[in-house]
Amino acid sequence: MSDGTARDGATRDGATLDGAARVGPARILDGTSIATEFKAVIRSDVAAFVARYGRVPALAVVAAGSDAPSMVYLRQILKSCETVGIEGRLIELGDDTTPTSLAAAVATLNADPQIAGIIVQMPLPRGLPLRAVIDVIDPVKDIDGIHPLNAGLLRLGYDGFLPATAHAAVEMLRRSDIPIAGRTAVVIGRSAVVGMPAAFLLVKADATVTVCHSKTVNLAEHVRRADIVVTAAGHPGLITGSMLKPGAVVIDVGINVVGGRLVGDVDFASASTVASAITPVPGGVGPLTNALLLSHLIAAARRQAGEVVPTGVRST
Ligand code: NAP
Repeated sequence: MSDGTARDGATRDGATLDGAARVGPARILDGTSIATEFKAVIRSDVAAFVARYGRVPALAVVAAGSDAPSMVYLRQILKSCETVGIEGRLIELGDDTTPTSLAAAVATLNADPQIAGIIVQMPLPRGLPLRAVIDVIDPVKDIDGIHPLNAGLLRLGYDGFLPATAHAAVEMLRRSDIPIAGRTAVVIGRSAVVGMPAAFLLVKADATVTVCHSKTVNLAEHVRRADIVVTAAGHPGLITGSMLKPGAVVIDVGINVVGGRLVGDVDFASASTVASAITPVPGGVGPLTNALLLSHLIAAARRQAGEVVPTGVRST
């Protein structure tokens, strides 16, 4: 190129356009192919369940309102259910949902023996507090780990249902053979459903973890120290290549719709020239989240049938 810029955005001297050192191009962490491997195991677990108990386990997906990114996520989950033989049931409550009607819908699903797991669209629309769900959802059906019992089990390091997205962020590292122990990690986002559980899981895996949020002063300074960056802010373009430590691993959990396209929190073009490994959006954490959620569902179904199995990923 005539301006001294290579096709991948790096200048001839190896610096990126935004001034960061260049170690890339980064390895792309392909969540879709890892999810495909998981789904093959889940499909055979579901078939074995149906053969053993003569019924198909069902997942209830509760949507309150019509937030675009979360509807994308919910539709993908329902599609994934089909591919592994789980019944996916969408319960659309509409924009006029109240805390009382939401709690009533969840209570009905708790009592339905066909339903093995319940998930509720997150983030909830304004005016619907998380407590409307967590005060009601049966912890044995809480396959996205939002009930205080499951959150407490995670915090204490015991087996309980993990929030699937946080689980996927860490499982992405594991399945990609990226070491976690002893490394410095920064999690951007402190929500009860994504950021904090991801931070707890990283601590459990022996990383040294900093949690950043919207009041963090000088986010770039924290990010630059990290070997592993997990972003779950819902803010497109928040993390750029110039903020990263060369060779960092970037797990982009964010899902944002910009100009009709799905993008993460990370400026992929600049970050992928500095990072050693990075998840794309779409095709990164999202598909793996869906697959893990289904693995939690079949574990829940088996546990409700009286089997003693862990809530998480099957190891064989
Ligand atoms: P959330 O409840 O809105 O939390 C966002 C967090 O990010 C908050 O802690 C917020 O800080 C922090 N934050 C926002 N802007 C920031 C900024 N400019 N700098 C630093 N921190 C900032 O959202 P969530 O439910 O945790 O979801 C996070 C993202 O993950 C969203 O994009 C969501 O769509 C996506 N998501 C992805 C999947 C998947 O499978 N890939 C699944 C679920 C959600 P405060 O606490 O100070 O407000």
